[in-house]
Amino acid sequence: MSEIRRNPFSDNQNEWTILSSNRLNRPWPVRDEKILEDNLTVYDKDCAICPGNIRQNGDINPNYKSIFVFVNDNPVFLTTDMQEESREENLTLNEQILFQRKNERGVCKVVVHTPEHNKTMKDMQAKEISKVIQAWGTDYQDLGALPYINHVAEFETRGRELGNSLIHSHSQIWAQEHIPPKIMSEINAQKQSSDALGKNAMIAYLNEEMVRKERLVYANEHFGVVVPFWALWPYETIIIPFSRISSINELTGSETDALAKVLSILSRTYAILFERPINGAPYMLGIHQVPTDNNNYIDYQMHLHMVTPLMSANRLKYPAGYGEFFGLQRDVKPEESASKLRTIAENLNKD
Ligand SMILES: [Zn+2]
Ligand SMILES: [Zn+2]
Repeated sequence: MSEIRRNPFSDNQNEWTILSSNRLNRPWPVRDEKILEDNLTVYDKDCAICPGNIRQNGDINPNYKSIFVFVNDNPVFLTTDMQEESREENLTLNEQILFQRKNERGVCKVVVHTPEHNKTMKDMQAKEISKVIQAWGTDYQDLGALPYINHVAEFETRGRELGNSLIHSHSQIWAQEHIPPKIMSEINAQKQSSDALGKNAMIAYLNEEMVRKERLVYANEHFGVVVPFWALWPYETIIIPFSRISSINELTGSETDALAKVLSILSRTYAILFERPINGAPYMLGIHQVPTDNNNYIDYQMHLHMVTPLMSANRLKYPAGYGEFFGLQRDVKPEESASKLRTIAENLNKD
């Protein structure tokens, strides 16, 4: 069973920590990962998600030709019909205040991006990436329609620096009962800013960045990419649609292709900047979409965050002492990182 626990010493009522100990069983490559990454082949007999291989739970992967979606063998949440358990009875006041916890139901899926073990987002054609985006849209819709699912998180964690347990290109879907704290925080903030401006604040922000240009990395007819004015990570980017969109399943065909082009250019840009020509730079990609609890989120604009932990080719950024205990701090000016990313992206866009 998975549960969420709340820190009674945080004033954020939405901040819960997910506890799911079953994740520790997930497969980890025990071989030398550096050697492994340098010698990646199109098929790996030891990979859990290559076509035709047997997974940890005994299932055999089909001989898929493009994408492959399956329920995670080591989910954070368990697929279950159990009802919210009543824990309220007989709780002491100390337990009610200091040990707050709730059961968390959900479904976790894996989206394998390509049958080729050694191919990452940066090597994929835009039309191949479009299929991945369509899969995210389908599962956002299908999982979000389940009665106990109120939020669908879709994200990719790429690279051994980030503790990725599977080298083969894939993303994850965590559909869950509670709305995650960062989404609740953004919903409240987007509403406040939009109310103050009298228009959608995130679209207004993108339009303003298009005029200022100093933090702009790349734009096409449907999406703009900027290093946010408030960025924490040295080479953090945010991808925002120009028109009002709530979730990824709302994208039209041409919007899907435009987003695929963004992801292709950004993953190649990071690979070039950080001198990772073969396997690309490590990154985290997260899609922020409206919750699926049927409430009205009129001000919440869908967007994507892409973050690499790298500061330079051989240096990682850690949120150290001050960052962990007090607040956020940044070393590189967003305008400088945007300028470096933009120069590379502009060259790639000429191809
Ligand atoms: Zn593989
Ligand atoms: Zn966001």
